[in-house]
Amino acid sequence: MPAPDHSSTEASSTPLPPGMVLGPDGKPCRTCTDWKSWSKIGKSGGSKAKKDSKDSSSTGGAATTGVATGAGAGTTAAAAIGSASASGSGSLASFDYEKECPADKEILGRATWTFLHTMAAYYPDKPSAMEQSTMKSLLTSFSQFYPCGHCAEHLREEMRVEPPKVESRKELSWWMCGMHNKVNEILGKDLFDCKKVDERWRDGPSD
Ligand code: FAD
Repeated sequence: MPAPDHSSTEASSTPLPPGMVLGPDGKPCRTCTDWKSWSKIGKSGGSKAKKDSKDSSSTGGAATTGVATGAGAGTTAAAAIGSASASGSGSLASFDYEKECPADKEILGRATWTFLHTMAAYYPDKPSAMEQSTMKSLLTSFSQFYPCGHCAEHLREEMRVEPPKVESRKELSWWMCGMHNKVNEILGKDLFDCKKVDERWRDGPSD
């Protein structure tokens, strides 16, 4: 769902860059933020970024390594690009964020939808009572732990309104498609035609 406006929080002394979302720990949340917004916090925070990175890794640092200030910090894509260029290990042109950096909201989202739709596509046509119950638990747990907090919260709300349909492969695939479309709608993306869900996630195009 759209990122909540965290542009000023108690933890922030200056406004955060647009698009930046804070996690429950009050720090910038990489998995709730797209990397273009994320990269903006590194431009003025080089040395602090390194310090915060250390602090965070020593404490097991949740999703990110920054602090919630506009001048902020964090191990950023910008910093990664800079160091790749400076060390000669890469260049702006060859830097591949997806391969070299922890997941941002977009990469995590695409990978997760791939997993969820594929799992639904291979769910049994006639699941046993135990399989149905396990799938429900999996989805409930998933919605608890999905690392983009505001995404997970909205998913839980939607699941309360429309609980997972686990009675068959087809029902689960359609339910998943509907959930994904709710997110698509909120993000202003095209809705997916759920009649094509098997073609997209199980059978491939018929040619
Ligand atoms: P994605 O939306 O990731 O889709 C990947 C592929 O799935 C598409 O290319 C298409 O082929 C196929 N597809 C698209 N729609 C459907 C459908 N309805 N059924 C079946 N297949 C489909 N981002 C936010 O900014 N805010 C949020 O609140 C948010 N909530 C999320 C909640 C969950 C549970 C997940 C998994 C992700 C969420 N995301 C959210 C991320 C967002 O949904 C996208 O994954 C991300 O923006 C990348 O989008 P994309 O255009 O690459 O394609």
